[in-house]
Amino acid sequence: MTKIMLVTGASRGIGAATARLAGAAGYKVCVNYANSGAAAEVVVADIVAAGGEAFACQADVGDEAAVVALFAAVDAHYGPLTALVNNAGTIGHGGRLETFDAERINRILAVNVTGSLICAREAILRMSTIHGGQGGGIVNVSSVAAVRGAPGAGIDYAASKGAIDSFNKGLSEEVAGEGIRVNAVRPGVIDTDIHAAGGSPDRAIEMASSIPMKRAGTAAEVGEVILWLLSDAASYVTGAIVGVTGGR
Ligand code: NAP
Repeated sequence: MTKIMLVTGASRGIGAATARLAGAAGYKVCVNYANSGAAAEVVVADIVAAGGEAFACQADVGDEAAVVALFAAVDAHYGPLTALVNNAGTIGHGGRLETFDAERINRILAVNVTGSLICAREAILRMSTIHGGQGGGIVNVSSVAAVRGAPGAGIDYAASKGAIDSFNKGLSEEVAGEGIRVNAVRPGVIDTDIHAAGGSPDRAIEMASSIPMKRAGTAAEVGEVILWLLSDAASYVTGAIVGVTGGR
């Protein structure tokens, strides 16, 4: 079976690292992005230079019509996907709940929760044996914030990742008999641009001493776990949430 992977939010950070690893592992890769088209094209060029196949596709995963068009683009390029990485995620500026308004909260939920659910829906329509598919795998990117709660930093973001954990479990059971495995990774502090978006560009350095392994993780260290969860080596793993936290 041709291996075809869509990685949402693959222009930077964990998604970009996952896309590069997927290309090297023989997947045909769709590199989704929201705004960073040039960065996405660099990821595509790197995959192609390493002998793989990839294309970039713009879509805001918080926009249902855009997600439907994104999956149609994957169909047109490569055929029905066999792997989805629900990685695209957003965070608000760090702070306490009293400083948040509904617009901010709704945007985080629209991208992180609704976007992941709608992407999973489109994947299942293509992968499930009850829809004529040949099975596949989904990995949802949660966060250690789901269990720590991120007090003072972004409890709305933490709540969005708690929702990921819940639907990861429910969806895994819903489609377990249809050839689809659904798992999640739970990254801790990973050295990417997301911390700057939250107003703490040096968070990966500042947090290092509080992490048992005394350092932040790399995007590739998360990507390796995602690739393993999607591989045949994890053939009896579904509904799992794998921590990638350096022990935190
Ligand atoms: P990042 O470096 O900020 O990259 C975020 C990626 O998501 C970018 O490619 C961005 O695309 C894309 N994106 C954002 N909003 C999008 C949207 N509405 N539609 C499509 N793509 C969108 O972040 P990261 O650290 O790699 O985070 C990736 C995932 O890991 C997120 O779900 C995040 O919550 C999770 N996570 C990260 C950490 C950490 O410490 N870094 C820890 C736990 C969990 P553009 O470049 O086009 O904007």
